[in-house]
Amino acid sequence: MVSTSSRARPKKKSTPHRKHAHDVPDPQGIRRLLLAWYRKVRRDLPWRRTQDPYAIWLSEVMLQQTRVETVIPYYARFLEAFPTVLALAEAPLDRVLGAWSGLGYYRRARMLHEGAQELARSYAGELPRTSAALRGIRGIGPYTAGAVASIAFGEAAALVDGNVHRVLARLYAIDEDDAKTRKRAWEIAEQLVKGEAPGDFNQALMELGATVCTPRPKCDECPVASQCRALAEGRETSLPRPKKRPEVPTLERTAMVVERPDRAVLLARCGPEGRFAGLWEPPMVDGAVGAKAFGLGSAVAAGEVVHVLTHRRLQVHVLRGSEGAKAPKVAPEYAEHRWVLPADAKDIGVSTLCRKVLRKAGLAW
Ligand code: SF4
Repeated sequence: MVSTSSRARPKKKSTPHRKHAHDVPDPQGIRRLLLAWYRKVRRDLPWRRTQDPYAIWLSEVMLQQTRVETVIPYYARFLEAFPTVLALAEAPLDRVLGAWSGLGYYRRARMLHEGAQELARSYAGELPRTSAALRGIRGIGPYTAGAVASIAFGEAAALVDGNVHRVLARLYAIDEDDAKTRKRAWEIAEQLVKGEAPGDFNQALMELGATVCTPRPKCDECPVASQCRALAEGRETSLPRPKKRPEVPTLERTAMVVERPDRAVLLARCGPEGRFAGLWEPPMVDGAVGAKAFGLGSAVAAGEVVHVLTHRRLQVHVLRGSEGAKAPKVAPEYAEHRWVLPADAKDIGVSTLCRKVLRKAGLAW
C-alpha cells in the first residue's frame, strides 16, 4: 500500500496541482479525466479507424518498440498484402518477412505469422473474443491480449506496456525495483480498466504515456495532474526507478559481399533460431577473418558496420570479393543460399543490418 504521509515530500516549490496531495489518487477521478481528455485530443491513427480485430492485433504488434510514424506506412502496406488472418496464414514466411523488412525485431513477424496459422487451424481465421483465449495463441502475450480484447471486443481487460508502466508508476508513486513496479502496475491497471469504454481507457493511458507523461513529463499539460502522487511529492522525473541495464557485449563478425555482373548478390538465409531467423544476409562468420575463411583467394576490406541490438552490439567487418563472381563458401548454420537481384529483395526478408553491409560494400540496395 502506498503511504499518503506528507513527511516524504521534499521541499520543492509548490504548484497548483500539489495542493491535492492528500486525496490522490482516486481511480474514478483518473478514469473520468483521462477519458474526457482522450476523446478531445486523440490522434487520428489508421488503426483507430477500424474495428477489425486482425488489423488491431497487427497494429499492436507493429507498435511494440517502434514509433507511430515509422509504423504507419508498414501497417498500410502489410494490410494490403495480407488483408485477413487467412491471407497471412497462407503466405510463405519469406513474403511476410519481406513486408516487415526494415521495421526491425523480426521475431514479431515470425510470431504473427505463426499466430495466424494457429488461428486458421483452430478458429477458422477469427480472433477469439476474450483476453484469456487470446493469450492461448502463439505469440500473443498479456499486453497484446489486453489491447485486442479491450479495443476490438470491449472487454475490461488490462494492459501495461512501457508507457503505461511509466504513467502508473508516477500516478501511484511506486518506488520499487522494475519487476515489483511492473507487477503493481498490472494490479492497478486491472482496477482502473473496470468501467465504461475499456478500449478507449486503455488507449487513453497509452496516449498519455506517449505524448504527455513521457520520460521528461509535461505535467503542465497533464489531464490527471491533480491525481498524480509523484507530482505531489516532487518525484515526477525520478519515478519509475531506472532499470538496471546489463552491459551489452560486442560480437565481432565478418561479412563477404560478392556481386555478379548482373548485380545479383550471393545471400544466405539464417537458420530457424536466433535474432535473424529466416532473414537473408551476405554470408558471415564470427571474428575478424580474411577471404580464406570464405574459400576465396582475395577480397577488399570495405569498412565496418556497427549494429546495436537489445542484448548485444554487432561489429561487422565488411569484405568485398575481388575475384569476379566466384561464390564464397557459406557456413553450414545457414539454411540455404542463392544469388538475389536488388529488385527481388522485396519478396524476401532482408534485415537493416544486411542493407547496411551491402551499402558499406558500395552496393545501392
Ligand atoms: Fe504525473 Fe506529470 Fe505524468 Fe501527469 S505527466 S501523470 S502529472 S508525472
